Amino acid sequence: MYHGSRPGWIEVISGVMFSGKSEELIRRVRRAIIARKKVQVFKSHLDARYAGLYSISSHDGAEVEATPVDSAREIQRLVRPDTELVAVDEVQFLDADIVPVMTELAARGVRVVAAGTDSDFRGEPFGAMGELMCVAESVDKLWAICVVCGDLACRNQRLVDGRPARYDSPTIMVGGRESYEARCRHCHRVPRRDEDQGQFL
Ligand code: ADP
Ligand code: ZN
Repeated sequence: MYHGSRPGWIEVISGVMFSGKSEELIRRVRRAIIARKKVQVFKSHLDARYAGLYSISSHDGAEVEATPVDSAREIQRLVRPDTELVAVDEVQFLDADIVPVMTELAARGVRVVAAGTDSDFRGEPFGAMGELMCVAESVDKLWAICVVCGDLACRNQRLVDGRPARYDSPTIMVGGRESYEARCRHCHRVPRRDEDQGQFL
């Protein structure tokens, strides 16, 4: 973990779904609370499909209160002047302004913890995650376990009606019938791109 002599930096927790990003974010938030730091937690409201609106919950059931937000600038407006740690979950769903917003927070001494899926269901960079990883002091990339073969999983497999979703389906599906699995590079399937290029992503 990065420790500068002056406060104010950005930590990114990246990885696929089920890799333990929320668990890790909650762990860091809890420890900051134990250290009596002033903490605020946010998450994209888009994640309301997966968890309670006002809390971050890991798949293990650990929970921390979180404020749902629609945009990066909303975080900027809601951060109180004396807040020492700002944690944001599901950061891949937020707009590109999340990069300057987090940069400004870090510049004025706030410890920023950003957790998000770094690749979409196609295996391509998701939202502003790539840029955030570039401007961060610390980046942790977590793995899940591939549900097909048991190797380390670094891809999000989207399934629609139990079948791999096509490459040209939208990055974010609203109210969909889709589900997700953690898979390794070799078990990940993205039909159409597979057909077009004769290879699996
Ligand atoms: P993320 O925020 O990255 O989606 P969570 O912190 O919410 O991850 O959940 C991680 C937990 O999910 C693990 O500790 C484990 O108990 C559970 N889990 C379920 N499926 C898998 C999987 N395929 N690989 C790893 N962990 C899994
Ligand atoms: Zn696999």
